Amino acid sequence: MKVLKFGGTSVGSAQRMKDVAQLINDGERKIVVLSAMSGTTNTLVEISEYLYRKNTEGANDIINRLEGKYRRHVDELYATQEFKQKGLELIKANFDEIRSHAKDFFTLFDEKAVLAQGELISTGMVNLYLQECGVNSAMLPALEYMRTDKNAEPDAAYIREKLREQLDQQPNAEIYITQGYICRNAYGEIDNLQRGGSDYTASLIGAAIKAEEIQIWTDIDGMHNNDPRFVENTQPVRNLHFEEAAELAYFGAKILHPTCIQPAKFANIPVRLLNTMDPKAPGTLISNETELHKIKAVAAKDNITAIKIKSGRMLLAYGFLRKVFEIFESFHTSIDMICTSEVGVSVTIDNTRHLNDILDELRKFGTVTVDEDMCIICVVGDLDWENVGFETKALDAMREVPVRMISYGGSNYNISFLVRQSDKKRALQALSKELFS
Ligand code: ASP
Ligand code: MG
Repeated sequence: MKVLKFGGTSVGSAQRMKDVAQLINDGERKIVVLSAMSGTTNTLVEISEYLYRKNTEGANDIINRLEGKYRRHVDELYATQEFKQKGLELIKANFDEIRSHAKDFFTLFDEKAVLAQGELISTGMVNLYLQECGVNSAMLPALEYMRTDKNAEPDAAYIREKLREQLDQQPNAEIYITQGYICRNAYGEIDNLQRGGSDYTASLIGAAIKAEEIQIWTDIDGMHNNDPRFVENTQPVRNLHFEEAAELAYFGAKILHPTCIQPAKFANIPVRLLNTMDPKAPGTLISNETELHKIKAVAAKDNITAIKIKSGRMLLAYGFLRKVFEIFESFHTSIDMICTSEVGVSVTIDNTRHLNDILDELRKFGTVTVDEDMCIICVVGDLDWENVGFETKALDAMREVPVRMISYGGSNYNISFLVRQSDKKRALQALSKELFS
């Protein structure tokens, strides 16, 4: 069985929902994971913010407006009076749930329950629509099988078992519809897999049922070889190794959430990125196969801060790096790039919430300098060290651009450069020219 995931824009209007219904109704049995309609999760976040600030009136205004919008979607989606009525009942039930949390003492628990409504509504609407069209569809309630453990990591064994139970209870359905993003935590409370987490849901389901393929449907034709906002004539990449895709997803490519890679990679299930606007287009296939001797793509990540620690004490000493890393760890700040020399180390971070505290601690070890507004440019492809000439090609492209750090050899799949954000565009263009034209 395949698992198909459609993001918020793919179900962003009644018409889009109809298009998705048509696309998935091809006689093949499948599990379909849906996001909330685009904009909904953001609106639910906004409602929660009002409620945290005890502004119930403000929250109710937004809730009413959102409900009005959904009532119009329902009217447009269904053809018959019977299903329009069912649609309105569904909306009412979910908005009653949202309103039940619109009280003075609003907690994280309430917020999670409010955020879950977006996916509960979109899946309910599409499931009803399929039934109106006479399709044999069934709901797989994510809150019954998707669960995280005490470390907030997905509980794979539980998910496998409960998902199986859900499927076995409805053995004759042709299309199973389920919610992305939402889950329960180890204590059984409603929770979620973090923003953008629907891709993760699809991957976890794919791994749990040993799917034949996981498809992530968006509105572009796969992962591109460069950022189309800065470079003209970018091309979709047809094949990527999971590790290449992970680097690209983490370093800027918006099309796929980075968490989605791991479960699929370990279960060895290919992930295909496809385009709802052009369903016949081949898209991008991500798998454990490497295409040799090829540089595939470039991606960039902004708002990076570089920190350099220079210390005489590092010379011939051991334990220096551990001490440095411990400081970042104690402030829950993850490091992206690292470069070391005999007398110093440079690292980059993107979360600067604890920057000042980190700098205070680091200063105990040496001279610290900081460069802000930097950008990581990540080049992926077959960059195995024994494969000569490929890293030099990327380096060569950067000859006119001031490069603050270079990272190579951490994996067989990438070389990364740290440059000023203001040099990003020309760096991307130079790489594109050198590597892909
Ligand atoms: N609806 C959630 C979000 O907007 C999850 C998702 O779309 O992947 O973050
Ligand atoms: Mg998404």
